[in-house]
Order: sequence, then C-alpha cells, then structure tokens
Amino acid sequence: MGKGVDNLKEHQIIKEYFSDVGSAYLEEHGIRVPVGDDAAVIAPPKEKESVISVDTSIKGVHFLESIGASDIAYRSVSIALSDLAACGATPSWFTLAISLEEFDPMWLSNFKKGLEDISHELKIPLIGGDTTKGNLSITVQVGGYVEKGKALTRKGAKAGDVIYLTGLIGEASYDLDSIKKDNLLNLKKSRYLRPEIRFGVSRKLIGVASSAIDVSDGLFQDLNHICVGSKVGANVFLQKIPTFLSKSLSLDEMNRGDDYEILFTSDKANQQRIKRISKEEKISICEIGLIKKGDEVQIITPEGNFLEASSGYQHF
Ligand code: ADP
Ligand code: MG
Repeated sequence: MGKGVDNLKEHQIIKEYFSDVGSAYLEEHGIRVPVGDDAAVIAPPKEKESVISVDTSIKGVHFLESIGASDIAYRSVSIALSDLAACGATPSWFTLAISLEEFDPMWLSNFKKGLEDISHELKIPLIGGDTTKGNLSITVQVGGYVEKGKALTRKGAKAGDVIYLTGLIGEASYDLDSIKKDNLLNLKKSRYLRPEIRFGVSRKLIGVASSAIDVSDGLFQDLNHICVGSKVGANVFLQKIPTFLSKSLSLDEMNRGDDYEILFTSDKANQQRIKRISKEEKISICEIGLIKKGDEVQIITPEGNFLEASSGYQHF
C-alpha cells in the first residue's frame, strides 16, 4: 500500500482502472487469484519454464512528457514484453507498479485504454501491481512461458552463424524526432508510441536461432551484448542493414535504439527456414552479417573499410 495517497483514493484507483484489464484472459493463463488479493496465484503449464522480466519507464527519460496517457501505457507494457520475445517466450501476464503525481480521472481512463489495447492484442491479463504517489513512473513486470530448456539467450552464437534482423532500424527514433519537432501526437501506428513486438517471429525461432536479443539500446550495442555473451566477434555489412525510408543513416543514427526488433543468429543451414518464417509472419528478416571468432564487432562499408560502432544509448 502506498504511503502518501490516501487509502480510499488508492483503492478507488485500483478498482476503477486496474482491476479488470484483460480479465477475460485469466482462465486461459491459469491465473487462479488475480488483482484484489494479497498476491496473484498462477498455475503454470506443465513441461514449460517461466520467463520473467521487468522494466521501468520514467517520464522525461523513457517517454516524453507530452505524449498521451494511452500511448504511455501501451508503450510501457510493450517494451517490457519485448524481452520475452527476445527469449522466444509466449507472454502470459503482466503486473504494474505505478507512481502517480495526482489523481486525474481523465488521464487514468486514457491510461487504462492503453493497457486494454495491449492486453487485448496479446490476450494477456493484468494480474497485480502497486499504486503510489510520486513522480510519474511506471514499472511493468511481464511473465510468459517457453518449452523446457528452449529459451533463446544471448549465449549461443557460434563462428560462421548468420546474423539476422527483423523489420528495420530507425523508424522509432524518426517518429520520436517528428513528435518532438511538430508535436505530432496523433501519429497512428507510430513505432515509437506503439511498438509492435515480434512475438509471431520470435516464437518460431525456438530451435532455429542460436542466440537472440531485442534491439532496445541500439543495434550495435545490442549485437555487442550477443558477442560478449557468446564469446564471439561479428562482421556487419553496412549496406545490408535495413533502414527506415531506405535512408542512409549514420552509425550513430542506426544505434539510437527504441527499435524493438529481434536481432538473432542462426546456423547457415537454417536460411530457408528463416525465409519461410518471414513469409508466414509477413515481417522482413534480413541477413546483416556473420559471427566470427574473436571478440571484435566490425562494421564493413561497401568499399571494404572497417568502422567502429558507437556505444548506443547510455543509461548513466
Ligand atoms: P497490499 O497492501 O496488500 O500490497 P495493495 O492495496 O497495494 O495491497 O493492492 C491491492 C490489490 O490491488 C493487490 O492485489 C495488488 O496486486 C493490486 N494492485 C495495486 N495496484 C495495482 C496496479 N497499479 N495494477 C494492478 N493491480 C494493482
Ligand atoms: Mg501493495
């Protein structure tokens, strides 16, 4: 229970805005006790393993102050879910710890709308959380399942594996710039405001990808995480990186992050299978490079020059 919000109001907020988001999906996910009790109780599916992740979104850091409450809600849940996609997991539930500056019914009902949008898209319920008063901060925990021992990690890339990327790079940061510049808050289907997580592709990568990560902090930085995790190096071919509006982006621009695409590696033998997944899911999947021995990540220009990647989004 949050200190600083009077109890009555806190309970009113929980009841009105957070108690029935996605409640139609409780049963199919084995949620025995949802919002309203001391804790949620879940009956996990047999033969599966739990995959859990948590992300905090803070005003002015992870989202612009000016964006609407429904987009803030959608984006906060969506980017938390992206880590489950990177593991090849199927999402099952989420919780929400929110700190609010004031009781604003209009803002809260818009926020609820965004929660409901993502909840209905993925058919997952909100199963618990915490509500306090303070600077606007949103922490979303997500849970899902994967076949025992099959979760994709950053650790399995091998020399000779091909590096693949879903979708393209730079759309979200382009949208973010447009929003800042022109106050285009009604951008429909913006990849910044409403990133669509690649669950369709990612669950089919189980048994196909040797490693995977979601591109949140920047393409090269996230590739580097795979290389460090797998103790390998990488060659990336600059002209093969698919970019928004086919623009020739600088390395810094390619490394701004917020793309929420899946970067993964796979044995060459899986090329046809990956083409099929791309076709079935109607999401482009491009080969952008090769894993090699060593520990260097090198970006190779069409002229054959080697470039060094910048470090991407830095939290501190
Ligand atoms: P407690 O004092 O036992 O922690 P709370 O008053 O904090 O109980 O919460 C009461 C119930 O409401 C719990 O089931 C909790 O999970 C749920 N809850 C509180 N805040 C949220 C929220 N923002 N989103 C979803 N569920 C919430
Ligand atoms: Mg509590």
